[in-house]
Amino acid sequence: MNIINDFAEIAESYISESKNNPVYPSRESLKKMHELVEPFPENPMDASGVLSLLNAKGSRATVKSTGGRYFGFVCGGSLPAAMSAKLLATVWDQNAGLSVMSPIAALLEEISSEWLLNIFGLPANTAVGFVTGATMANFTALAAARHSLLKKAGWDAEGQGLFNAPEITVITGDEVHVSLLKALNLVGFGRERIVRVPSDNQGRIMAEKIPQFKGPTVLCLQAGNVNSGAFDPIEEICRNVNRENTWIHIDGAFGLWAGVSEKLRHLVRGIELADSIGTDAHKWLNVPYDSGLVFVKDKQTLLTALSASAAYLPEISQREPLQLVPDMSRQARGVPIWAALKSLGRKGLSDMIESNCRHARKFADGLKKAGFTILNDVVINQVLVSFGDSATTLGVIKRIQEEGTCWCGGTNWQGKTAMRISVSSWATTDEDVNLSLAAMLGAAEKEIKNQGQPILNK
Ligand SMILES: *Cc1c(COP(=O)(O)O)cnc(C)c1O
Repeated sequence: MNIINDFAEIAESYISESKNNPVYPSRESLKKMHELVEPFPENPMDASGVLSLLNAKGSRATVKSTGGRYFGFVCGGSLPAAMSAKLLATVWDQNAGLSVMSPIAALLEEISSEWLLNIFGLPANTAVGFVTGATMANFTALAAARHSLLKKAGWDAEGQGLFNAPEITVITGDEVHVSLLKALNLVGFGRERIVRVPSDNQGRIMAEKIPQFKGPTVLCLQAGNVNSGAFDPIEEICRNVNRENTWIHIDGAFGLWAGVSEKLRHLVRGIELADSIGTDAHKWLNVPYDSGLVFVKDKQTLLTALSASAAYLPEISQREPLQLVPDMSRQARGVPIWAALKSLGRKGLSDMIESNCRHARKFADGLKKAGFTILNDVVINQVLVSFGDSATTLGVIKRIQEEGTCWCGGTNWQGKTAMRISVSSWATTDEDVNLSLAAMLGAAEKEIKNQGQPILNK
């Protein structure tokens, strides 16, 4: 088919050009993208024409997060095996909701589930659901928590909803990710009534400040703060709080993956004691968007919390993908996850995580040596740097973004303006780090010179 050849050519040149083009689209490319704006066309256009138009106007208006020099937010790249498997799955166009609709999609979810439980050292009968991302993973886990706690209190949450239901106490750290607050709100826990526990200067929940609680309680912990990368003391808390009526959930969107490295495994110690965990595959596993995973220790709880029944759904005798997630029809997310895991193996996965962490330390060391302040302990792949006062830091970030060698964003860390560097792509090499560090230092020098301040000891 011609369209496949056209596509292969376009994809090939996009990938090779991405290496040289600026990480963020130029003003000109952004302008060109708007040439796509038109009234709904009266007449058809052939597939080749559509694809070539999309490439001409769209490909340059992308952010090159698949390259090695994108350090914005916490994104991750796209492993070649995962990317190509996802494309093949698109050609297959499987509805992954039921095994009868796609035997291969269901099998690859099963294989991947088993591998993932092994990788993270979770009990073999833990339920694994394939969702769009950590927000939905957290949401799904919290729906299971709601079911479990209210059932114990004699209330049928699925049947009766939350009106007049027994109260559930919800506890999080001060440094909880905003998306978890959204998930709590969506399951009806309300973000205003959450008990927020103080965090320390790295963003870790302070275990000794967790209040004594009675009655049904959801306690949310974090493996990997989105700014500092810090981990809550998971094992200590899981062993010490009253577990009778408590559901412990861990948001491990990217940090969970530190558990694949022997050197870093201590950071996630105790995750197997939690009731549920949410994570992303599109961040640190480097699977293309969108992809997340939810783990729920008590499979039956998850199945009941999400159960839907309809006459045309087959009787359940095996793992059915749609039973473990909110969606029914959906893409085959297990395919790129399987391909990523298969292509890396335990060794490759651990090497990728450790290499990202090594590069993060290299950034931190280089910036510190030039006289700038690193605001966090660099425990994994996240670096927070201040270039001086808030205006200077913002000025440096703007210059880095405009110069185009690499891309980093700003953040606010415990009241301080910072630049965040997240090294989370398989594609980042030593050379990428050297080039990017030089670009950062160059931008900082220009910004400081521009402000008439002395240049720091370089
Ligand atoms: C990114 C992130 C999320 C949200 O994940 P999405 O994939 O964007 O839904 C939640 N928690 C933490 C700690 C994160 O880093």
